Amino acid sequence: MDNIKRDVVGAWAQIHQHLEKKLPGHAIHAWFDPIVPTGFQNTSFVLEVPNQFFLEWIESHYKDDIINAIKNTYSEKVDYKFLVTKQKNEKTVENTQQASFEDAKPKRFNNLNLKYTFDNFIVGSNNEFAKTASESVSNNPGEQNFNPLIIYGGVGLGKTHLMHAIGNNALNHNSDLNIVNITSEQFTLDFVNSLRKNKTIEFAQNYRSADILLIDDIQFFRGKEQTQEQFFHTFNVLHQGGKQIVLTADKFPGEMKGLQTRLLSRFQSGLSVDVQPPNFEVRVAILLEKAEQNGLELDYSIIEFIARHIKNNVRELEGTIIRLLAKSSLLNVEINNQLVTEVVKERVGGRIGNEVSIENIVKKVSEISQVKEVDIVGKSRKMEIAEARQVSMYLCRDIMGTSLNNIGLFFGGRDHTTVMHALKTIKEKKSNDVRMGRMITSIRKELGFSFL
Ligand code: ADP
Ligand code: MG
Repeated sequence: MDNIKRDVVGAWAQIHQHLEKKLPGHAIHAWFDPIVPTGFQNTSFVLEVPNQFFLEWIESHYKDDIINAIKNTYSEKVDYKFLVTKQKNEKTVENTQQASFEDAKPKRFNNLNLKYTFDNFIVGSNNEFAKTASESVSNNPGEQNFNPLIIYGGVGLGKTHLMHAIGNNALNHNSDLNIVNITSEQFTLDFVNSLRKNKTIEFAQNYRSADILLIDDIQFFRGKEQTQEQFFHTFNVLHQGGKQIVLTADKFPGEMKGLQTRLLSRFQSGLSVDVQPPNFEVRVAILLEKAEQNGLELDYSIIEFIARHIKNNVRELEGTIIRLLAKSSLLNVEINNQLVTEVVKERVGGRIGNEVSIENIVKKVSEISQVKEVDIVGKSRKMEIAEARQVSMYLCRDIMGTSLNNIGLFFGGRDHTTVMHALKTIKEKKSNDVRMGRMITSIRKELGFSFL
């Protein structure tokens, strides 16, 4: 025990080594590398972890692993306890209070999510204009004609991210700004509560003192006449006072139903910008960024596979990464093709491969060979099924140049050597077997590729 006390870091390093043998690399990377051993009290290691979520996750998923690793490293009875690291800014506040009284002004509480910044917002043609406008508004709040700025578009495309980034960036420039950031539902609730408690004046003052008012998802004002009335007045006061207003919505303001026309006409006086679903390249960039943020190293072929299947929603892309991380941690397996196929399948409701062209190929092969589509992408080794599958693989490679790995993933999670074998087999059969030659030619023709 004394040895451990003398060298806590070294002692923890031994336990860490033990864990490395038991758990997949990314789990170690994500959950154990950030732990800092800071001391030893009585019979316990004191381990600092970055936050409460981290603490709970590691306790609920890795408790036994840690206990076993300690047991295997030390014969004595040694325990551990976690401590959440004090946030940097908490410490700074303490320090500044001691250093200078004036700096210790109370900070306003604004709910901004610090994770959402312009720096980590990936730009593509789908959201470029929205980002530029947001940045511009945030650098010069209230000073341009972009008032209100309305960011609109489908679910999970980065509207909330941009809105919070506006707030965060504006505060970086000027920490005295009063930023009121709220969802339309919270605004409604706040208003209703103020009615109940006879505090509508305070309610109004609170919102009207904003330098920047950020309201998320204003479509939920739909049909709430009295809330809209309140919002209308708040809007006017702020707008006339040259204060910046930023709103997000699921649709272009002109197409929003259930909102008063006078509100909609106010909206027209500002700027509306849309966010669209990302294209393939942007999806790949987002996946790479999110994987890195989560300490996950993924093969490019896996990133590409996810990007080909999950198309309409950035939140889903992010969710897929988190799900992969969670699943491989829980099942204690490395992230491999099979796991990726499973996770993506869950996400797209089982319809793996809605990548039109691969699907078309399978469909055509199925029509001509009379082997069912599910069998072609399935596991059966029956000769005619296996052949139809090999033909499909061959055509995917031949026509679209799909990577071996991705072909493998699509056709039942097989590895690339199986695919290579299939390609070779069909290539040989094609030149030696007239029936096969004809079949390939006619499928290519039907798919519109006879010219190659
Ligand atoms: P919305 O408000 O449009 O429904 P969010 O802003 O909540 O969408 O975005 C969903 C998730 O996707 C968030 O975690 C956000 O950080 C992320 N996200 C969306 N667009 C981007 C982007 N262009 N770059 C990086 N992350 C993004
Ligand atoms: Mg949102």
